[in-house]
Amino acid sequence: MPAALRVALPVPLPTLFDYLPAEGSMAAVGSRVLVPFGRGKSVGIVTAIDVEPSIGGHRLKRVLRVLDDAPLLDAELMKTLAWSADYWLGAPGEAYANALPLALREDKPLPATGEELWTLTAGGQSARDAGSRRGGSRRLLDALAAGSCTAADLDLALPDWRSAARRLLDAGLVERSERPYTAVVAPPVPAPELTPEQKEAIETIAASFGRFAPFLLDGITGSGKTEVYLALIEQVLARGQQALLLIPEIGLAPQTVRRLRERLGITAEVLHSNLAEGDRARAWLRMRSGEATLMLGTRSAVFTPLPNVGLIVVDEEHDSAYKQQEGFRYHARDLALLRARELNVPVVLGSATPSLESLANVQAGRYRALHLRARPGAIRSPQVQIVDMRTQRLEHGLSPTLLGAVAETVARGEQVLVFRNRRGYAPVLLCHQCGWHAQCPRCEHPLTLHYARAQLICHHCDYHARVPDACPACGAKDLKPQGQGTERLEEALAAQFPQVPVLRIDRETTRRRDAFEQLLDGLREDAPAILVGTQMLAKGHDLPNLTLVAIVGVDEGLHSIDFRAGERLAQLVVQVAGRAGRARKPGRVLLQTHHPEHPLLRGLLAQGYAAAARELLAERKLSMLPPYSHQVLLRAEAHQRDHVETFLHEARAALPDGGIQIAGPMPAPMPLRAGKHRGQLLLEAESRATLHNALRSWHRELAAMPSGRRVRWSLDVDPVDLY
Ligand code: ADP
Ligand code: ZN
Ligand code: ZN
Repeated sequence: MPAALRVALPVPLPTLFDYLPAEGSMAAVGSRVLVPFGRGKSVGIVTAIDVEPSIGGHRLKRVLRVLDDAPLLDAELMKTLAWSADYWLGAPGEAYANALPLALREDKPLPATGEELWTLTAGGQSARDAGSRRGGSRRLLDALAAGSCTAADLDLALPDWRSAARRLLDAGLVERSERPYTAVVAPPVPAPELTPEQKEAIETIAASFGRFAPFLLDGITGSGKTEVYLALIEQVLARGQQALLLIPEIGLAPQTVRRLRERLGITAEVLHSNLAEGDRARAWLRMRSGEATLMLGTRSAVFTPLPNVGLIVVDEEHDSAYKQQEGFRYHARDLALLRARELNVPVVLGSATPSLESLANVQAGRYRALHLRARPGAIRSPQVQIVDMRTQRLEHGLSPTLLGAVAETVARGEQVLVFRNRRGYAPVLLCHQCGWHAQCPRCEHPLTLHYARAQLICHHCDYHARVPDACPACGAKDLKPQGQGTERLEEALAAQFPQVPVLRIDRETTRRRDAFEQLLDGLREDAPAILVGTQMLAKGHDLPNLTLVAIVGVDEGLHSIDFRAGERLAQLVVQVAGRAGRARKPGRVLLQTHHPEHPLLRGLLAQGYAAAARELLAERKLSMLPPYSHQVLLRAEAHQRDHVETFLHEARAALPDGGIQIAGPMPAPMPLRAGKHRGQLLLEAESRATLHNALRSWHRELAAMPSGRRVRWSLDVDPVDLY
């Protein structure tokens, strides 16, 4: 039997594929190869060479071409990916596909990583002098007359310069060349005088350079965690090493890039879903070659090649955005830990509201906790005050106490944030005559009223409908919006405070790229304003003149069936509250609720997040929930409910005996979505090893089940939500 290559292909199957080596060229593990697949071709990653083929020799096909002379993925990344595919029960090919920017998954040469430089030719000089060009071409000639420019400079100076550049290039008036990449931009600005707590954290972590050591940097909002990261990254770069900084959301990227550039004097490479594919690939390749030393990115940046790394940082480690919710369902924080261990470097998890998982790891002695308890500049953290809604007359859901506080704040020339985690005008449109309410026909869930767009929209499946004039059930013209979304609060506040700008910040008003930044940039620091927004406003962006935070409508979180709801609510309240009083002025936080006696709220407000988290952890331990047990969720959906049920019953019957608690088959918390019936099977075990050992063979059985072909199913290891 001839020796074969084992290849991971980007398909959602739990298998690898064997091929004969290409004629005359050997591929190394970690290289990309082009192979025949089905009726077409596919680019895959070689995971092993010289293997005994798993299928008969006559059926083995041959690799068409080896795309990389040297492995694109180094040994550490290959090992990490194999481990992750196994742990998160992903299709191996999908794990590899996640690790590579899209542009590198194609049968094309690698993009150059140097900087593109554009220069005027002699012909271009005369054309400019003669004034023979107009419009965009003229502007580009003018820009280059002063000297060569990089593509990055031109991007900033002349939007849409590329089309002019193509015309002028064809006419021989400009030239394109490449120069070696350099990240250095300016002399760095020195750090502020660090507090003793910051210094201690930095020294402790720096003492672990060169070996694996996990830290939890537990510091209240505004306590200077980012300064700690910056100081550590500075030291790592001075040692000639690389650093990886993960953030949960794209929205935080621009301001963080700016801060890194100021303090360190270099441009960080960035990797997130809002970038052009070419730029993503270049950033990835520059880290791989070592030309670049600092990577800032969201979830998938955890797969950045780090041949010479000194430190990994995961900011806002509690954020569930680190968990991928489809396809290959990995957790970037957990992967960051795995890579730090493999690469022998310290890893810092930072948060003002650490996840219960990380706190349990501290309790068990696996992570070392470092605390930042004070805000530099000695401004006290804001106190949270509860507003009991039951005793108040509400105006569009806003209590007189709250409106009074807003009035006082804007009268002082300061800014207010009104937080409501719900988009749209109202979550329900109700008929006052007969009780009918607008419902999504595909999800059987209430439709959200979007008043300005005159539409009813399903937030689960994006179904759109026009707002009816009269009740479709009884014909009465008595349809009333129930409850409040950000759009309604914006309207109510604008009516109450006509002289103050009211800015709404949610997914609707920030759809465009950079819209979030622009909205906040338009805010004058010294003038009053009212911001109304969702979760997006909970993080990032220092607003020094923001002194009042009003939290309305978090009561849903107190009654959720999700066992993580309490943790989420506590994190959200603390994060949002932390937006108040960031600079010289003291802040105030109001929390409006119908349940002022709820133990979680009381505990949180009286004793703070750490105490509330201890309480929640104790509850989890009593009821043997994660992190004290481990879960895997099998989800299935199909247009026909019996297809879902049959598959889940067969799946349950195929489970091995022993050590695993099984709940279900049962309908998902949302049993119908976008016209599909959804069900699930929840598996739980005290020991992760027991669970995983049982699941590997079960996973293969599921893949082979005929009933599995009639549903869409997925396995979610350590699910962060049960929907
Ligand atoms: P966190 O990341 O914990 O929210 P930051 O690092 O963003 O906190 O710090 C909050 C604010 O305090 C920032 O404006 C930062 O520049 C400032 N700051 C941080 N550390 C110090 C310090 N030691 N002295 C003065 N200002 C500081
Ligand atoms: Zn009616
Ligand atoms: Zn729907």
